[in-house]
Amino acid sequence: MSAEHIPMFAQVNKYFDKAARYLDHPPGLLSQIKACISVYRMQFPLKRDDGTIEVINGWRAQHSVHRLPTKGGIRFAPEVDEDEVSALAALMTYKCALVDVPFGGAKGAVRVDRTKYSDAELERITRRYTYELFAKNLIGPGMDVPAPDYGTGAREMSWIVDTFSTLAKGEIDALGCVTGKPVTQGGVRGRAESTGRGVYFALREAVCDTEDMKARGIQPGIEGKRVVVQGLGNVGYHAANFIQQGGGILIALAEREGSIFSDKGLDLEKVMAHRKETGSILGFPGVTRSSPKNGDALEAECDVLVPAALESVITDENVDRIKARIIVEGANGPITADASEKLLGRGVLIVPDLYTNAGGVTVSYFEWVKNLSHMRFGRMEKRFQERTNERILGGVEHLTGLKCTREEHERVSAAAGEEELVNSGLEETMVSAYAELRTIQKQRNVDLRTAAFINAIGKVAMAYQERGIFP
Ligand code: NAD
Repeated sequence: MSAEHIPMFAQVNKYFDKAARYLDHPPGLLSQIKACISVYRMQFPLKRDDGTIEVINGWRAQHSVHRLPTKGGIRFAPEVDEDEVSALAALMTYKCALVDVPFGGAKGAVRVDRTKYSDAELERITRRYTYELFAKNLIGPGMDVPAPDYGTGAREMSWIVDTFSTLAKGEIDALGCVTGKPVTQGGVRGRAESTGRGVYFALREAVCDTEDMKARGIQPGIEGKRVVVQGLGNVGYHAANFIQQGGGILIALAEREGSIFSDKGLDLEKVMAHRKETGSILGFPGVTRSSPKNGDALEAECDVLVPAALESVITDENVDRIKARIIVEGANGPITADASEKLLGRGVLIVPDLYTNAGGVTVSYFEWVKNLSHMRFGRMEKRFQERTNERILGGVEHLTGLKCTREEHERVSAAAGEEELVNSGLEETMVSAYAELRTIQKQRNVDLRTAAFINAIGKVAMAYQERGIFP
């Protein structure tokens, strides 16, 4: 069987099994951790705008309830199936464990091509899907908390919270039933860009490791790195933006409609504006080359490749043509297990999805905590902290006899608001998780993905062992 035909959940379990060889937990416990504990499949009717009725297929998988609530995005995609949802739910379990976010793993999906439905139809699909979850007790701030994923965003999360609040009358923590909401609907500042920002931190940590870079003959640092990004949605756009701000050069970008290349670097904002105006990145002026194939960018000669669209885009079929020296997995499962082995064999540094895109769930966790506390982060202490800083600076001026300018006063005394706190918490999470990964990688002499699985499985196993098995 070629790698392309191995179902996604089996691919995730291949990684699991590789890591499990380094752990000495009882085999039965490892099997339990690996299993997807429940998948709910639903079929519900949609009344289309023209009055016809269509049957819509949806799923919600809860991979592990070793911690509650479970957590995971909802994707709207035309090809999604039960296997993919289970695999993505499993990745959520390991991802949450890896970055110490206290949730079990889940994932939801609706099989639709969102471009073929009106906004009103998408709203009816989202609300009915939420109702189906509610009817089975599969959504709630202490139960299972969805978030955006491929094909969904803040707008869908607003519809979900509104539907849930309508159904769960009097539920005081209703806002915590879903994350990734607009800030005006209980969202947290920094959530929209959090996954992309996390991808940037992941790349920054990887390329700052002088030992790893030296081994590959690569200069440390993001500055000047030639970068390719596939998929300019929530994850890809923000990742590309932070990487460009950090000094990376975007030499190729890919969207559904094709790939564009520029040796000098593409201006992301201008490419996005062009796409908004024309509906395509193709035809962007001044490019070195363009291609109607969205896979072409993946094969560009570059330092860093960020696949940030969908799973299984690097397979047995194209792996030999991939020239990147570092691959930062923005999407979930963009490289098949066999292709991953081949790349590792060639010395490519793969920064795995489990870690790389964990910024989204990390900030979702902050949003959920905010919803349960019913208060914006920083609201209580910001002014107090600023006055304290001001008094300290006044003391320094008094002792030294020096006078700071007004701008210096403002800069030194400024205290963190919600966005600064969220970004700080995200950075701390990504930096410390990478340090854990590197320690395991060195101790065990394994690749980063195996180190990530070793770490995550160990933490989930610990939860089972400490709490025992019911009954
Ligand atoms: P999105 O829908 O916002 O963006 C995906 C983008 O990829 C779209 O712009 C789409 O047009 C483009 N695309 C689709 N097929 C393509 C192809 N063949 N080539 C190039 N571009 C293509 O989705 P997203 O939220 O950015 O999610 C992307 C990936 O990241 C998914 O694997 C998702 O599971 C993962 N992820 C998302 C989050 C999050 O917070 N949104 C968090 C963790 C992981």
